Amino acid sequence: AYVITSPCMEEKARECVEVCPVDCIHEGEDMFYINPDDCIDCGACLSACPVEAIYYEDEVPEEESKFIELNMRFFQMK
Ligand code: SF4
Repeated sequence: AYVITSPCMEEKARECVEVCPVDCIHEGEDMFYINPDDCIDCGACLSACPVEAIYYEDEVPEEESKFIELNMRFFQMK
C-alpha cells in the first residue's frame, strides 16, 4: 500500500482523494491517510499529490518512517 507523509500536514490538498479509484484515502485531523486494506497500489495518488507526500510503503524515506506507524494507528482506531 501507499503511505502519506509529512508534507501533507501543511497541505491537505485533496487531489489524491479525487483520483483514488477505490476511495481508500480518509481525512484525519491534520492530514489524509490511506487505508492499506483497501489500497490497490495503482499509484494514481502518487502523481496527483502536489507536494510529493506519498510513497510506496517500501520506499518511505527514513525520516518519514513514523508515518507508516501513524497511518496504522489511524485505522486501528476506527
Ligand atoms: Fe488509492 Fe491507488 Fe493511491 Fe492506493 S495507490 S491510495 S488505490 S490512488
